[in-house]
Amino acid sequence: MRDSIQKKLRVGWFSFSCCEDSTILFTELLNEHYKEWLPRIEFCSAIVLQKKSEIKNLDVAFIEGAITSKKQEEQLLLIRKEAKKLVAIGACACVGMPSMQRNLFPEELKKEIEELIIRFQYAERVKKVSDVVPVDANVPGCPMDEKVFVSVLDTYLKEFGIVG
Ligand code: SF4
Repeated sequence: MRDSIQKKLRVGWFSFSCCEDSTILFTELLNEHYKEWLPRIEFCSAIVLQKKSEIKNLDVAFIEGAITSKKQEEQLLLIRKEAKKLVAIGACACVGMPSMQRNLFPEELKKEIEELIIRFQYAERVKKVSDVVPVDANVPGCPMDEKVFVSVLDTYLKEFGIVG
């Protein structure tokens, strides 16, 4: 008789424009929870952990950071298309700040950074994740609130039938 294969939650972790402090917290949480999570979670894309990146048929996509260019918007739209659930991670993803500070710059400061905006092909305005795609859950905080993150992950492990 074949051993039954443990179904895993297909997860992607993506960082857009940000300082990636929530990614650091996430890797620290992995150290603490690896015995419990690794048999249950398949990391399809998580640049901080591995080079392999497969953005296809994800159960949950975690999005850190604000969206600052057309190229990032396109990538986020692709991730949304491939993910059943999408979670905004940290204040920059949830509400746009502090990454979107330049939206509030006075006109003369905006003029000063104009060259950089053109050179790096940034969009005129920085957006939060929900300005671009629908969001299923938010993990607020700067960096993210670890307890909320663990609780969101637990919810999806149950919802997708990975744990009872
Ligand atoms: S929410 Fe805070 S910790 Fe997270 S990316 Fe933005 S500035 Fe960094």
